[in-house]
Amino acid sequence: MSPGTRRKDAVELAAGYSAKHRFYEKLGILAGAGLFVALCVRLALTPPLSGWFVPLAALCGMLAADFVSGFVHWAFDTWGAVDTPVLGRLAIRTFREHHVDRKAITRHDFIETNGHNIALSCVMSTLGLLFLMGTPGLLATFGAMWALCTGIFVASTSQIHKWAHMDTPPRFIHLLQRARLLICAEHHAKHHAAPYDRNYCITVGWMNEPLRYIRFFETLEAIITWVTGWVPREDDIGKEAALASLAEAEAKPPPVPVPPES
Ligand SMILES: [Zn+2]
Ligand SMILES: [Zn+2]
Repeated sequence: MSPGTRRKDAVELAAGYSAKHRFYEKLGILAGAGLFVALCVRLALTPPLSGWFVPLAALCGMLAADFVSGFVHWAFDTWGAVDTPVLGRLAIRTFREHHVDRKAITRHDFIETNGHNIALSCVMSTLGLLFLMGTPGLLATFGAMWALCTGIFVASTSQIHKWAHMDTPPRFIHLLQRARLLICAEHHAKHHAAPYDRNYCITVGWMNEPLRYIRFFETLEAIITWVTGWVPREDDIGKEAALASLAEAEAKPPPVPVPPES
């Protein structure tokens, strides 16, 4: 841990998982499954995509879901607190709990692990159904297939993240992790190490390097801090460590451009 890091109490955070929250997760799973089936049926009734379109939609969906996982994870890790209205208890508490007790996720049942993400996949399924309104052309059908694939990966992200924290994941999953087709323990471990500001993407993790290269989250954080004065990760790691990390980031000189070779 970085000097000055203050974490919350794991038992207190775990106790925040209420019956109301679980009811919301069950509703999310029902809605997610219903919309997923509706989109599959609607897709089956449209002229099928041929050739490379389906694998391409799957690849684009996987990358989009990886980005969504990173963006949502970054947002809830970096901003807000457990007492933030609505989102605090609904989402941020889970992220804080995971940083204090990263093995807790491996003890969560199917509903607690996957409820949020299956609920989030409703957005993708709805988008896919919108693509197929009227008489869809090739582009709209491709868009719907992309939305379907994105939704599948979004819905699976928490389970994939859970496997990355398991000491002995199922053998087939371990093979997929080794092939880097799912996020693996070694890659994800960097997220849980100081300064706790990298590798937010937790589906396949392929987007982590490109986003870090263009300083995507760092730039967003700088803009938000400049506009609001908020300190990134203040609630997660404590004010002292968050301010030290912010000062360190501000003191870093901008990268020097390398002149082209003549
Ligand atoms: Zn995190
Ligand atoms: Zn984790």
